[in-house]
Amino acid sequence: MSFTIHGIGVSGGIAIGHAHLVSHARLEVAHYVVPQSQVPEESARFDAAVRTVRAELEGLRAGVPPTAPAEFTAFINLHLMILNDSMLSAAPRRVIETEQCNAEWALKAQMDELLARFDEIEDGYLRERKSDVIQVVGRVMKTLSGQPGYLPPPPAAGSEQNLILVAHDLSPADVVQFKQHQFASFITDLGGTTSHTAVVARSLAIPSIVALHYARHLIRENELVIVDGSQGVVIIAPDPQVLAEYQLRQHQFDLERQKLKRLKHTRAATLDGVEVELHANIELPGDVAEAKENGATGIGLFRSEFLFLNRNDLPDEDEQFEAYRRVVVEMDGMPVTIRTYDLGADKHSDDPQRIVTTPALGLRAIRLCLTEPQRFLTQLRALLRASHHGKINILIPMIATAAEVDQALALIGQAKQSLDDAKVPYDRDIKVGGMIEVPAAALALGMFTKKLDFLSIGTNDLIQYTLAVDRTDDTVAHLYDPLHPAVLNLLAGIIKTADRAGVPVALCGEMAGDVSLTRLLLAFGLRQFSMHAAHLPDVKQAILKSDLAQLKPLARKMLRASDPQKLRALLARMNS
Ligand code: PEP
Ligand code: MG
Repeated sequence: MSFTIHGIGVSGGIAIGHAHLVSHARLEVAHYVVPQSQVPEESARFDAAVRTVRAELEGLRAGVPPTAPAEFTAFINLHLMILNDSMLSAAPRRVIETEQCNAEWALKAQMDELLARFDEIEDGYLRERKSDVIQVVGRVMKTLSGQPGYLPPPPAAGSEQNLILVAHDLSPADVVQFKQHQFASFITDLGGTTSHTAVVARSLAIPSIVALHYARHLIRENELVIVDGSQGVVIIAPDPQVLAEYQLRQHQFDLERQKLKRLKHTRAATLDGVEVELHANIELPGDVAEAKENGATGIGLFRSEFLFLNRNDLPDEDEQFEAYRRVVVEMDGMPVTIRTYDLGADKHSDDPQRIVTTPALGLRAIRLCLTEPQRFLTQLRALLRASHHGKINILIPMIATAAEVDQALALIGQAKQSLDDAKVPYDRDIKVGGMIEVPAAALALGMFTKKLDFLSIGTNDLIQYTLAVDRTDDTVAHLYDPLHPAVLNLLAGIIKTADRAGVPVALCGEMAGDVSLTRLLLAFGLRQFSMHAAHLPDVKQAILKSDLAQLKPLARKMLRASDPQKLRALLARMNS
């Protein structure tokens, strides 16, 4: 029976394909349907793996020498306790039976559920036991891999293109792995419009929807699904007329995209001749090709922290240097703004030695960099070395205090000195800028215009912190409003103050790629936009049709308005 569910569309377009259920970082865990006749065998395979691991742990415990520290036995007992918990030892069997899925998948799904519960625990000690759960599950997985059961036939070549990934939640690290694949779309139960998961989804330029709440429960493996990313609608098991209608819309959408690509070489300028720089945001060096294809005249934000995700070590100086060098060389003389790693909050490295989960108000971005100067210096040296091969600007994320900027500049000085000592060349004129994404920085901008060469407004965080709305939380997503008067006045204020101080200012949050806000930002005085490549042609088209002289009075009215409806009406007039 056909039914429809609604969520928040985070990347437009229409996808039609078959559902494929996934869970966190699941790309490494096989997921397949086990034929009904094989289900008892699959359950038995799971039970056998649990028994083997139990015996292993008991064997280990029996072998502990009497002289060993008491913690050793306590540690093994803890792992046995985790293994024996019904959530891991019994519930996966039920999942195998009800969902007819393989044991690895059932175990992983249960682990994710258990880990999500750990995240809610206040007690730091208990929360840290997450890694013990992961270790125990790892042992069972390893045992399962040595006991292969039924295996599905391999997927046909190119079949990914018709897959719609359905997940309860995905981390940015999961989604960035999709760049190596060609899925048609993905949809999740959780997530907000500017969560990093959504941000990366946009960069994939495939239709995607978050905050669907029950998609993962309601949709079954392999079901036919339509995803309308522009409207935030998912249609499951559509009837033939609906399917035909969406096939037509999909075709029209694709034609429109192709047409817009013709603007690739057109200069971005308003009707009254004001030129605008349109740059691209990238996560990985491989994204440069798409940026160029869509006519970007520079990289306005390279989120370098994505080099640190999906691995359990850290990229060393040479590896980072190669990544940065590759981007500047491919950009062939165009400017490349590389943000120093902005880890923390929803983006964390898997390095077990590192501080991993840090909340949005905690130790993230520049705060984290400054607590680990050696690690930060490694990145700075790599950036400086790469600056010898093209035009690099260094961008410091989430600055809030003058001291942070002073310390970051001092470390850049130290990195330069170490390269000078080793006679390694770098761009001596390299520019250093800061991201304005904390309201305190926006309100005390003079503190930063004096010290930095340029600024870049990160509206994703700026809105989150101004409105106190967690950008990753779908339950408050309706409160996340770029048109809130406080946000508009902050933005206009930043642009004006930076202009007066003669400091170039760009905007690289998701607002830059939202074509309904292009004219408003132009009227506020913004002349440099950075966004995911897929949005560049739309934004360029809006700029080409804009007359600044007409827009400015309306923008001034918007800055004085406080009524949300009036604000929306004024914006509609601006865009008409
Ligand atoms: C922002 O906050 O607007 C931004 C561009 O940085 P990120 O989305 O990576 O936090
Ligand atoms: Mg940010």
